[in-house]
Amino acid sequence: MRLKYLELNGFKSFAKKTTLEFGHPIVSVVGPNGSGKSNVVEALRFVLGEQSMKSMRGKTGVDLIFKGSKSLSKGTKATVSVYFDNSDKVFKLSNEEGEIVELNYDTVSISREVYADGLNKYILNDSDVRLKDVNNLLSSVHIGSSGHHIISQGEADRVLNSTPRDLKEIVEDALGLKVYQFKIKEGVRKLERANENMKEVSILRRENAPHLNFLKKQVEKLEKVKEMKVELSTLYQEYLKKESVYLNEEKSRLGEDKKRILDAIREIVEKMGDESIGEDKKESPKLVELRTTETNLSNVRRLKNEIERKLGRIEGMIEIAETRRVETPEEVVVSFSEMKEIVGDVNTFLDEALKKESLEDIINIIYRIKEVLNKFDKKPVPVENNSRIEEIENLKNTQREVLVEMERIEEEDKKIQELIRGLKDDIQKESEQGMEQERARFTLKVKHQELSSELQLNNVKEENLKRLIESYENEVREGEAFLGAEVFLFQEYVFEGGVDRGLQEDLRRKIERIKIKLEDAGLTNGADILKEFDEVTERDAFLAKEMEDLARSIESLHQLIGELKEKIHVEFETGIKKINTKFHEFFALMFGGGEASLSIVFSEKRKKSSNEEDEEGEVIEEDEEEFVPEEGVAIDIALPHKKVKELHSLSGGERSLTSIALLFAMSAVNPPPFLVLDETDAALDEANSRKYGDMLEKLSEHSQLIVVTHNRETMSRAGVLYGVTIGSDGASKLLSVKFDEAAAIAK
Ligand code: ATP
Repeated sequence: MRLKYLELNGFKSFAKKTTLEFGHPIVSVVGPNGSGKSNVVEALRFVLGEQSMKSMRGKTGVDLIFKGSKSLSKGTKATVSVYFDNSDKVFKLSNEEGEIVELNYDTVSISREVYADGLNKYILNDSDVRLKDVNNLLSSVHIGSSGHHIISQGEADRVLNSTPRDLKEIVEDALGLKVYQFKIKEGVRKLERANENMKEVSILRRENAPHLNFLKKQVEKLEKVKEMKVELSTLYQEYLKKESVYLNEEKSRLGEDKKRILDAIREIVEKMGDESIGEDKKESPKLVELRTTETNLSNVRRLKNEIERKLGRIEGMIEIAETRRVETPEEVVVSFSEMKEIVGDVNTFLDEALKKESLEDIINIIYRIKEVLNKFDKKPVPVENNSRIEEIENLKNTQREVLVEMERIEEEDKKIQELIRGLKDDIQKESEQGMEQERARFTLKVKHQELSSELQLNNVKEENLKRLIESYENEVREGEAFLGAEVFLFQEYVFEGGVDRGLQEDLRRKIERIKIKLEDAGLTNGADILKEFDEVTERDAFLAKEMEDLARSIESLHQLIGELKEKIHVEFETGIKKINTKFHEFFALMFGGGEASLSIVFSEKRKKSSNEEDEEGEVIEEDEEEFVPEEGVAIDIALPHKKVKELHSLSGGERSLTSIALLFAMSAVNPPPFLVLDETDAALDEANSRKYGDMLEKLSEHSQLIVVTHNRETMSRAGVLYGVTIGSDGASKLLSVKFDEAAAIAK
């Protein structure tokens, strides 16, 4: 790797495109004061990514753009490009992932532009890049950012003014340890990112966890549900099959029973005849006949009575007629005693008659009264009367007729009485027979009642069976809701023996229990849950794997950082030793003796506040003020023949010499690709200028040197000399000059 050339365009006083070629190990830039030599050094700083405006003597980016003059207009941007020979392919770029990518260009060009608005642009071989890419690239060729290899004007003793911490950085940079620092930073950055990712992933996983847990439980539930369904299916098969068998049997049994009962009832009803069961017996026709006959008898008796009375009357009339057959004269003399006897008898008879109820008796009494009264007829002499004989004859005829009638009636009376006796006998017999029938009827009635209640019971059983069938059908429907078509497998279920209702009840209770549990589980679609569970589990596994990977990468980053720190530590210590050897050597050369060395020192440093992180990304937790030891590098010198050891007591020249000795020592131990020295030799006397020149030549064996100088001795060591002038147009001009010209220009 070698600096090829530097191109300035619109940068500070270099209004126009100006190119410096570094065709020799030592290139010197000479020119009068204010011509723009330092601008060249600053251009190099600028293009290598310098961020401190102060070190480029500006306040803002605009200060770096050509400001114009009377004859030249101001620029719109400043551009500086540096070209490196990369034929040995040492330039490397590490990408975000930390992979090192070689730059395959033979020439690597870095350009930086700054615009009036302060915008900066970095271009690497025609591609826009970021500043960090430039830093990244330069660190691969030991061009660190501490700028120890570019010593600006007035900075000859810069290292002596550095704090131990800054000096340590300069030393580290010079030792090429910056590349490790950079790697550590990269590592820390990656570690931070990994920790960040770890946090995010673990948060995601934590967030995922309740859902996963929930799903896991659901899946467990589903498993249980599955088990329960299997159990339910088994129970259903047995239960439903047995139930259907039982119900069918029961149905036909009840049907048969009913038929039997109805047949029996029908039979009984038939046996009991037309008479309705339970209705009272109708009156016997014989009784009716008896009653009619008895009425007839009483009618006959009444007729007989009438005839008897008629007969009596006829007899009476005959008697009367008999007595009147002989007529007696009208006048009859009756004595008083006779009269009294008659009246007495009549009265007696009348009193008797009044007591009688029967007309017949009264009539008889009347006849006797008449007999008494007839005593008056005795006295006259009776005479036969023919008409009376005829009358008697008629009456006797009538009497005979009536007697015949009487005989007939009596005959009828007898007949009727016989009939009544016969009827009564019949009725007696009938009643005896009726008792027998009544008993049989009663037995049938009882049987009928029994059968009726049996029928009623059968109806009740039928009702119950109907309900059982309904509930069985419901059960099948519910089973279908729970198990789908699987429930109908019960039809294939085979069992031996009868159906035990108690066991059926047990089965049904078990089924109910499982159904309730299944309903309680409330899982409708298991497939969705299983799918989601798989997805969430997969995601969790993915996150777990991610965490594992991250943990591994965090672990390896910690290891890497540890190793790098260790490497820095070791290389730093050995580097210091090597530098010390050279430092002492150069110091003694410059001062003709004396002692010079670097030492590692520790100073107290206040710890950062709590929420800040240290280099390795570890959060420092304490908030209280705390001091931690901070490593630094100190310079110890002892001038020959002098007791002075304090740096601040040295003269300007001594400071320059010490500084140069150290700078060169560092450069000798780990030669930088190039070294820019802007009037570092300004304070040197002739003798020291020579020694300085010797050291330059030595250093130039390993590093390209660009020296800005007014010193003839220095100029004499350069292979290429550039003269810088500034004209009336305010623009610096560059020209290649010979040593003699250079010496002239430099004045
Ligand atoms: P010395 O030998 O005295 O150190 P030098 O050669 O190093 O001088 P520089 O300091 O490089 O000179 O140049 C300074 C010159 O550059 C000054 O004349 C200054 O006006 C000019 N200059 C600086 N910035 C700009 C700018 N933005 N535009 C135009 N000219 C500028």
